[in-house]
Amino acid sequence: MESEKVIARDNDYVLHTYNRNPIVLAKGHGLHAYGPEGQSYLDFTSGIGVNSLGYCDLAWAEAVSRQAHKLQHTSNLYYTAPCSKLAKRLCRRTGMSKVFFANSGAEANEGAIKAARKYSFDRYGDGRAGVITLVNSFHGRTLATLTATGQAGFHQYFGPFNEGFAYVEAGDIDRLEKAVDSRTCAVMLELVQGEGGVVPLDPVYVQQVRALCDEKDLCLIVDEVQTGVGRTGTFLACEQYNLQPDIVTLAKGLGGGLPIGAVLVSAKVAAGMGPGTHGSTFGGNPVVCAGANAVLDRLDDNFLAGVRAHAAQLRAGLEKLPHVAEVSGLGLMLGVQFEEGIAAADVLAACRERGLLVLTAKTRLRLLPPLVLTAHDIERALVILDEVLCGMTPAQI
Ligand SMILES: *Cc1c(COP(=O)(O)O)cnc(C)c1O
Repeated sequence: MESEKVIARDNDYVLHTYNRNPIVLAKGHGLHAYGPEGQSYLDFTSGIGVNSLGYCDLAWAEAVSRQAHKLQHTSNLYYTAPCSKLAKRLCRRTGMSKVFFANSGAEANEGAIKAARKYSFDRYGDGRAGVITLVNSFHGRTLATLTATGQAGFHQYFGPFNEGFAYVEAGDIDRLEKAVDSRTCAVMLELVQGEGGVVPLDPVYVQQVRALCDEKDLCLIVDEVQTGVGRTGTFLACEQYNLQPDIVTLAKGLGGGLPIGAVLVSAKVAAGMGPGTHGSTFGGNPVVCAGANAVLDRLDDNFLAGVRAHAAQLRAGLEKLPHVAEVSGLGLMLGVQFEEGIAAADVLAACRERGLLVLTAKTRLRLLPPLVLTAHDIERALVILDEVLCGMTPAQI
């Protein structure tokens, strides 16, 4: 069987850094993915928030292949139209001033930290480079972003870690005020902690953080790698928090399935990032930018209203399922906490057996469906989840 062959070969040769599900995906269309032997799956993961238009959206695939036939790469020594077009559209939609293109979320966050430190260096000189992040955050897997990630579990094996990072509990403005000192240059946060369990920040707290950053001239870096590009029902989650960040990072859903990261900066931060301060061989690649432009083509106000309507339908359905204690999240970024004794990992495995792909985050089941899902897709997923949960009894504790 093809699946067995692929899995065995992968296990033999690919470094075992991932706990993969024991299934092979060979092709897909919309919300549906198919295995080599014809297995069919309803995908509520979108490749962890990446396939915003689902699998192989026609307009997206055509835009990407048209660009691949025209010009696939040039390096950043030359100008290309897809890159400048994407940058202009991102600035217009977010109110930010300029964009740096990277290739992943972690890389975008690295760029954000560099830009914040450069702003601070130019204005205040050396020694003001500290970045405060939140406990339970996730910012990536490179050494600096791993250090920025406020989860102790990530801070082992790979030290020495970067200096200049400190962590405070989300929601506690007093602790943040105390943590800021003369060496602090930035605060970095996710508005909905994704990997940390799909936990939205309190809007009042976010405004307090903004005010503190204004008072101390700190750069507020908002990591919208997961929440951005329509995921929460607005183009940026910042819009729902009425927040204008100094730096915002995007990645996952931006390319519709191709690797891209973006650092969006305000005019004052942009001023310090001149030639030679940052770079990337692949950043702004025309094929990848063509894919991202196809995603932006789709994400008009009408589309985002549809995302919000579908999110409300999904959330209401989840809240009615058996054994559900709480539904958290924003838009199509949802976490489900079950009653004690029901493990999200068991629910995930049972859903997979029935052809529904879902995720977990910490103790929660996590849903990140493609933004193009329909009412029918939601009903299908809820029926499967209902069957799975009806068949479960909380384990003896
Ligand atoms: C996924 C994620 C990252 C890391 O993105 P990569 O593309 O895996 O490097 C960073 N921040 C947040 C909030 C994420 O969800």
